[in-house]
Amino acid sequence: MKALVWMGKNKVEIQDVPKPRLVESRDVILKVTGSTVCGSDLHLLHGAIVELEKGDILGHEFCGVVESMGPSVTGLKKGDRVVASFQIACGDCYYCNKGLTSMCEKTNSDQLAYDMYGGRTAGIFGYSHFTGGFAGGQAEYVRVPYGDVNLLKLPDSVPDEKGLYLSDVIGTSWNCVVDTGVEKGDVVAIWGAGPIGQMAADFAFLNGASRVIAIDCNWRLDYLKSKYPKIETIDFSALPRGTSVTAKLKEMVPRGPDVALECVAGEYAKGWAHYFELLLGMETDSSEIINEMVTSVRSYGRCGITGVYVGYTNHLNIGAIMERGIRLIGNGQAPVQKYWVDLLRMVEEGKIDPLKMVTHRVKLEELDLVYSKFEKKEDGMQKVYVQT
Ligand code: NAD
Ligand code: ZN
Ligand code: ZN
Repeated sequence: MKALVWMGKNKVEIQDVPKPRLVESRDVILKVTGSTVCGSDLHLLHGAIVELEKGDILGHEFCGVVESMGPSVTGLKKGDRVVASFQIACGDCYYCNKGLTSMCEKTNSDQLAYDMYGGRTAGIFGYSHFTGGFAGGQAEYVRVPYGDVNLLKLPDSVPDEKGLYLSDVIGTSWNCVVDTGVEKGDVVAIWGAGPIGQMAADFAFLNGASRVIAIDCNWRLDYLKSKYPKIETIDFSALPRGTSVTAKLKEMVPRGPDVALECVAGEYAKGWAHYFELLLGMETDSSEIINEMVTSVRSYGRCGITGVYVGYTNHLNIGAIMERGIRLIGNGQAPVQKYWVDLLRMVEEGKIDPLKMVTHRVKLEELDLVYSKFEKKEDGMQKVYVQT
């Protein structure tokens, strides 16, 4: 079968690889019909996520049709049209029972992840051996462990093109908004106007935010404005010399926003500083975004981190956090299974429209080219639907 594989830093290729087989009794083999590329895949492309190996199949957001299943799968049958959650949960461990499926204790046994973080996230499809070493869904077929837990049936009223984004983007954006307690009247500032930031803006308005301010540096701000005329924007690359994002925000909201959401991370945020310095002897900057967030929000404001950081970040303004009672919240890898039934209903009812963020439709064979465009934010590329 064809699949997109990682072949080293900044190199991905479409290759012929063996088709997956059932391994455990709760496995499902899914014939993939749609997938997409996520900002998180860029961290893999850049080689910034540890324990990625040449030949690993990428892709953690996909939907498809059930091809075959193990004898212990009870809620699905061959031919069911489903979407997969990006992380892999068992459904019955300590965290799964609390609805925190993204922290499942059974699906990732990586020792380095444990040593670095004092605990592990659940396994994630196509996201290195640091998150369990599972093959991803940017492929014709994929093995889905614990199929009953990690696949959601799509009704006829929700086409693949809409249902696909329940894999990650929709649940992740919803998670950062509810986890930071966005409520009626709040002013919400969002760093990063990519798909995650965009859907977070959507959900912030749905939860009653009075103002949403998006911060980015490229055409995506105009894209966002065309979809949500109410949104306010800050292009940090166009600020007058000497004016910081924090100063600009104080000008717009003198007391400061109630909530700040980090939807960027990656290479931009230089969040890997400590890890690189320690392990590779490279010098890097520290992240400024978290400092911008904690110095911008009002006292006792909430700051949520959804962008993916690897390890330590230097020079965090702990003084500001302590003195002004800032609530710094790690939103975690989002437990999408906790929300996806409700979110599917919102898609069905038209309360949210994931197609708003989709700008391109391509075939699996073209996916390697998409990576470089998506990385450079070229060609107006916002979110891609990859037909398999
Ligand atoms: P993306 O790369 O498409 O968008 C990121 C945006 O941030 C870009 O438009 C970029 O121009 C902007 N940006 C760069 N530097 C900035 C700065 N200093 N200030 C403000 N904006 C800046 O990514 P995406 O798909 O929208 O994902 C966003 C982040 O969310 C990524 O780090 C991704 O890994 C993470 N993510 C987390 C989860 C989770 O469960 N926690 C799930 C999915 C994605
Ligand atoms: Zn993703
Ligand atoms: Zn579990």
